Amino acid sequence: MSLRSIVLLGATGSIGRSACRVAADFPDRVRIVGMSGFSNMEQLAAAANHLRPAVLAVPDGRSAADLRTRLDYEPREILTGEEGLCRLASLEEADMVLVAIVGTGGLRPTFAALEAGKDVALASKEVLVVAGELVMAAAARRGCRILPVDSEHNAIFQCLEARDPAHVKKLILTASGGPFRTWPEDKLRAVTREEALRHPTWRMGEKITVDSATLFNKGLEMIEARWLFGVGIERVDVVIHPQSIVHSMVEFVDGSVLAQLSHSDMRFPIQYAFTWPDRLAGSLPPLEFAKLGRLDFEEPRCDVFPALDLARQAAERGGVLPAVLNAANEVAVAEFLASRIAFPRIWDIVASVMEQTPDHPASDLAALLEADRAARESARRLAAA
Ligand code: NAD
Ligand code: MG
Repeated sequence: MSLRSIVLLGATGSIGRSACRVAADFPDRVRIVGMSGFSNMEQLAAAANHLRPAVLAVPDGRSAADLRTRLDYEPREILTGEEGLCRLASLEEADMVLVAIVGTGGLRPTFAALEAGKDVALASKEVLVVAGELVMAAAARRGCRILPVDSEHNAIFQCLEARDPAHVKKLILTASGGPFRTWPEDKLRAVTREEALRHPTWRMGEKITVDSATLFNKGLEMIEARWLFGVGIERVDVVIHPQSIVHSMVEFVDGSVLAQLSHSDMRFPIQYAFTWPDRLAGSLPPLEFAKLGRLDFEEPRCDVFPALDLARQAAERGGVLPAVLNAANEVAVAEFLASRIAFPRIWDIVASVMEQTPDHPASDLAALLEADRAARESARRLAAA
């Protein structure tokens, strides 16, 4: 593999910071040519001063001026707004774009990258939940690859490589179960923000950490898997695996199962996406099985954590429903993080918004964005009630 030029969208987030560490590990293989940040200019400047991308993108002119005072080099350009993000995603010299923007903010930049013929390393699962069919079609049309960065999907991608899709029986996503895996149902009403943000195995951004506590993260991932690997939702299973060492598995028609294992550190899937199809020796620690001792697996408690059933329903109804589930969840999580609603209300709000929404085909991006907007409005209304 030669040098790969990569743009980092969401360089200041949890995934973005891990991506910077991977890039710093392989200066001969990975060159960061562009970076975006949204609210933390100090962090963006620190990352940019280290990796010196030619082009940067920030939300507005004020942030751009702030960023400029913090840079110790002269970038070629600082772009602004969503338009700027899309231009960064289609940067001439880029081979690959990492999309690691939380929520649906990554949607338009992902399309821009694909339209410009870039391979996409995709962390933002919301993009596929909202517009999976359109995104996969755009990638196919332009002959671009989507390399999954979400650890479960990166694991499945590794297990499926060079295999005949006809031999696959099902995909088995592992889930840590989050901080409330063993909690009795009646205690969940009083869950605090701090408790929900204390993930047992992963350090991540706030939104995905709450999603991991409700299991909506796994629900979103079921839909993500459905599009990435082109299988029906009925062939996507979830098993709880509290140690987060087995990142996911593929069961084949002969009953054999392949799994991918590593420590729970997002640099593993990011490195694989950045250096694919090569495997490079870097700084990541190997597993020591005798020290791990044991790996546990259990059924998810779907009665207490309804997120998996809701996601399955959304996928089965299809059309705009996955986008509706995603939008209602984004609003409900923000309301919970602002301490305005109790934890179990996240499930109630998503379920109610889904119930209120009539089935509608996801014919184009406009239909999806309209469903997203309406779902957000309904979710806000329910949260305020
Ligand atoms: P984070 O909150 O730590 O970072 C989010 C990034 O997005 C930041 O760089 C922020 O500046 C930027 N951003 C936020 N709102 C934006 C907007 N409106 N426009 C442009 N940029 C914006 O989030 P994270 O944990 O790094 O997660 C990023 C994505 O990756 C999410 O979709 C998440 O589901 C997915 N993911 C994360 C992990 C993980 O370990 N953190 C694992 C798997 C998948
Ligand atoms: Mg994941």
